[in-house]
Amino acid sequence: MRADLHTHSTASDGTTAPADLPAAAAATGLDLFALTDHDGYGGIAAAHLAARDSGVLLLPGAELACKSPAGVRLHLLAYGCDPLDPWLAEHVEAVRDDRIPRAQRIVAAMQADGLAITWDEVVDTAGPNASIGRPHLAAVLVANGAAADIPDAFNRFLADDAPYYSGHLTLESTQAVAAVRAAGGVPVLAHARAKRGPQLSEDEISGMADAGLAGLEVDHPDHDEVDRSALRALAERLGLLTTGSSDFHGGHKEGLPLGANTTDPVQLEALLSQITGAPILGAGAEANAADQYRDRRVPGVGA
Ligand code: AMP
Ligand code: MN
Ligand code: MN
Ligand code: MN
Repeated sequence: MRADLHTHSTASDGTTAPADLPAAAAATGLDLFALTDHDGYGGIAAAHLAARDSGVLLLPGAELACKSPAGVRLHLLAYGCDPLDPWLAEHVEAVRDDRIPRAQRIVAAMQADGLAITWDEVVDTAGPNASIGRPHLAAVLVANGAAADIPDAFNRFLADDAPYYSGHLTLESTQAVAAVRAAGGVPVLAHARAKRGPQLSEDEISGMADAGLAGLEVDHPDHDEVDRSALRALAERLGLLTTGSSDFHGGHKEGLPLGANTTDPVQLEALLSQITGAPILGAGAEANAADQYRDRRVPGVGA
């Protein structure tokens, strides 16, 4: 069983349409992938329809933007939550909605300095109903010749420590962990040792474990071997499972194909066995399950 538990579609800051992801996942030899767009479930219904024909299984998920009690920004992978859970519906949608004024602030600051970027271009790049993020702004800067490529746009303009960084609404991390559990989902801390800014201390990760955290994403492209060993040891100490994933973003992160990292089958089984909120989707699996993502306004699904 080859499983990639962290991928993005055009419903957030990936460049592959959700309807195209299952075939792409199958073509790389994956048996299961999780769609984990930022702060919403907007791609799940379309990915599910396509997954029925591809033979690959789809684990519905999302990547939730959070802040720790000490103020460190982090991403929480939420797998198999009930998409109608009212707390998540309200709070995740609020985070996603706040990404719009936040991106508009960044665009306005860039325009004030004469950088070639307009809000209309950002919206055109992101497409309708996407969870708007910095990669969309980076793509516009590249298209307009203001940056050489996406990494250059981040390094000079958009990274956490770059001049135009601006934050958006986030969830409080221990509250988010508990809310994911309450929605029948399984919370896993994403890329805790990515070098993007201040990192969570082991004490803070331990606090998240106390709140119900299920696992740590260990095999991630932003983690070197030292990071992976340390995270694996920490997971062992805290009784957490470990995952591996690509954090696939298509053309917004070059050189990171689907399946670049995968999750150990024993760890996958431990994760899946804890899910009670939403079924795995795919051929033969709960034929109408995606309706719950399509028919109601739930986190990340456009009106
Ligand atoms: P946002 O969610 O709008 O704050 O943007 C964060 C996203 O930007 C991440 O999910 C990555 O896809 C991407 N990202 C963050 N840092 C970098 C970086 N240094 N280079 C390229 N992409 C990045
Ligand atoms: Mn992203
Ligand atoms: Mn992330
Ligand atoms: Mn991600």
